[in-house]
Amino acid sequence: MLPQFWDDTHHALAAEAERWVADHIRPHAERFEEESPFDVGLYKKAGDAGLIGVAYTEDVGGAGGDIFHALIVAEALVRGHSVGTAVGLGSHAIAVPPILALGTEEQKARYAVPVIAGDKIAALAITEPGAGSDVAGVRTRAVRDGDHYVVDGSKTFITSGVRADILTTLVRTGEDRHGGLTMLVIERGTPGFSVGRPLKKMGWWASDTAELHFEGCRVPVSNRLGEEGSGFLGVMSNFVHERLFLAATCVAIARLALEQTERYVTEREAFGRPIGKFQVLRHTLAEMRTREAQARAFTSVVAERNRRGEDVTVDVAMAKNAAVDACSFVTDRAVQLHGGMGYMRECLVERLYRDARLFPIGGGTTEIMRELISKWR
Ligand SMILES: Cc1cc2nc3c(=O)[nH]c(=O)nc-3n(C[C@H](O)[C@H](O)[C@H](O)COP(=O)(O)OP(=O)(O)OC[C@H]3O[C@@H](n4cnc5c(N)ncnc54)[C@H](O)[C@@H]3O)c2cc1C
Repeated sequence: MLPQFWDDTHHALAAEAERWVADHIRPHAERFEEESPFDVGLYKKAGDAGLIGVAYTEDVGGAGGDIFHALIVAEALVRGHSVGTAVGLGSHAIAVPPILALGTEEQKARYAVPVIAGDKIAALAITEPGAGSDVAGVRTRAVRDGDHYVVDGSKTFITSGVRADILTTLVRTGEDRHGGLTMLVIERGTPGFSVGRPLKKMGWWASDTAELHFEGCRVPVSNRLGEEGSGFLGVMSNFVHERLFLAATCVAIARLALEQTERYVTEREAFGRPIGKFQVLRHTLAEMRTREAQARAFTSVVAERNRRGEDVTVDVAMAKNAAVDACSFVTDRAVQLHGGMGYMRECLVERLYRDARLFPIGGGTTEIMRELISKWR
């Protein structure tokens, strides 16, 4: 993000995160990508380095930082050349906020604290085979039976779900579309809960993506977050920060693809000169730089307004779409300017191009963001 919004603590964190990523991700990125997923021990290492907890409050083991601290880490992780590792390590950022928003002090201590320390892995389970954009279409049902809920249904596309210890899970406890939703924390090993095969996907290879099945799964009522019917509030607790994370990640991918391309066009020669001398390519690079800079500035301004306490629900949807478009444009042109090499698995921009394709879909699709923006008065 733009350093104009940083103080000394942000600069120090950026340097430290860059060093950590250079030591712990970058040397292993090819292995994490090709033999996915990344080493599970990385969660603990990231927790020990304070990279998970930067923006959580101190009472749950965080460092009490602000949104820029969190976005600095999100950007730094992309510099490890493995977006899958970055998003896998980052699944806490969508799984923990509903616990903090709705949970009791005891639940925060039991679930959020070990995740922030890196001792446990958390995932957010909302999407189902029959309900994605339409969150209120969730059908996984939880029926009260004494001190337990009996949960039946399935979730899909869950980031970190294969290895997660705790799953912040949206279930249906009532008939009202939004008001009938509730969040339960479902722990790995609960009888009746099973994880399906890891899903193979276009990009994000170093992250694990799960199908989850619940069959007569008995979850203690004490694992319920908030009151019955408050589940949609838990979903909403993620909206702004999740979309800022995704926007910052897109900006970071665009920057990396741009840097790779700027270097390549000075090294690669055709017709007796470096290809970067051709005006068409220089103009393409100029446009790539412009889009990355626009997205970085827009995301930074929206993050700053969020830090000041303004309502940025709509602005963040615009920032996400702008950053996603910039990232899609830059990674596409990066492949083009690399020629045949851009299509090769050994070439970083080939991977970034595939990784970028998720962002118009995840965290609220581009179309759903436009719906939100268009309805705003
Ligand atoms: C790699 C990956 C990781 C993911 N991680 C997680 C995770 O950790 N947790 C989780 O819960 N989910 C996760 N998801 C799911 C993701 O959030 C959903 O895929 C996304 O919300 C879209 O839902 P859908 O796939 O059901 O598509 P659909 O909702 O079926 O949408 C299909 C198309 O229709 C369009 N559309 C739908 N409704 C409208 C409308 N009203 N107006 C205009 N267009 C519309 C969409 O924009 C899209 O283009 C992940 C997905 C992927 C691929």
